[in-house]
Amino acid sequence: MDRVKGKVAIVTGAANGIGEATAKLMAKEGAKVAIVDIDDANGKRVIKEITAAGGTADFWHMDVSHANEVEKVIEEIYKKYGQINILVNNAGVGGGRSAPHKTTEAELDRVFGINLKGPFFCTKYAVPYMSKSGGGSIVNVASVYGIIGGDTPVYDASKGALRAMSKSDAICLRKHHIRVNSIHPGNVWTPLFEQIEKSLGGIPEESDILGSVRVPAGRMARPMEIAWGILFLASDEASYVNGSELLIDGGMVDAPLPVYPPQIPEAPGITPD
Ligand code: NAD
Repeated sequence: MDRVKGKVAIVTGAANGIGEATAKLMAKEGAKVAIVDIDDANGKRVIKEITAAGGTADFWHMDVSHANEVEKVIEEIYKKYGQINILVNNAGVGGGRSAPHKTTEAELDRVFGINLKGPFFCTKYAVPYMSKSGGGSIVNVASVYGIIGGDTPVYDASKGALRAMSKSDAICLRKHHIRVNSIHPGNVWTPLFEQIEKSLGGIPEESDILGSVRVPAGRMARPMEIAWGILFLASDEASYVNGSELLIDGGMVDAPLPVYPPQIPEAPGITPD
């Protein structure tokens, strides 16, 4: 309890999935939470649930890819709470699942606009207020695919760029006492993942996804398992952690050989001795 007590946290994309779990955890641990999202219905649902549990939260409609909107909303959040200590750049979209010669410029702009320009704008406009508040912590939610690549070149590039931007921001913002780190989730069971599976014509079943990727943990992550990592980096417990990347991927990035999910005991085509 109270791991971020007295702090004000902005969590982008907090109406669903990882952001929702993070907002709820931050509120439970004592922060006042500003939930920003384009999904008004779920954003309002999340503040109701946080308030009912005894926490403090408010909702702002904000599209992270629109600089003017970000500037205005972050100013409003500062005016309401009088400080900003934590920024979690979590809002993001999937996309760009095709070979580069078949990917349109519009798709590149859409994914980069939200996944990279979004964190850039939120950081740009939150930093002056965080600095006035004595410093703080920025956590950028990237992805394991921003490190190893995958079959979504544009998405993976947006997350790889966010990883690099986090390290550079950590250096540039040191004199403002603002730490910047990135989180790299593996496959997490959230609405985003369900939508990707549906768009591919598949049935959004966890076992299907596990059949196509190597996850030593043998299962997908749950949003709260990512939220715990974000909470740590946001809190003063991580006061000496800066410019780092925290993988929460069930061991995926380090799996040296194909690891088959539990329901497939042996590699296909190999007869056990
Ligand atoms: P999600 O779709 O469940 O939630 C994303 C939230 O962001 C939604 O509430 C959505 O309304 C909001 N959002 C989308 N565009 C926005 C915009 N322009 N402005 C403001 N809000 C916007 O997704 P999730 O799975 O919880 O993903 C959260 C973050 O984690 C994303 O950055 C994603 O890329 C990253 N991530 C997810 C996974 C996974 O497997 N789910 C893996 C690695 C990284």
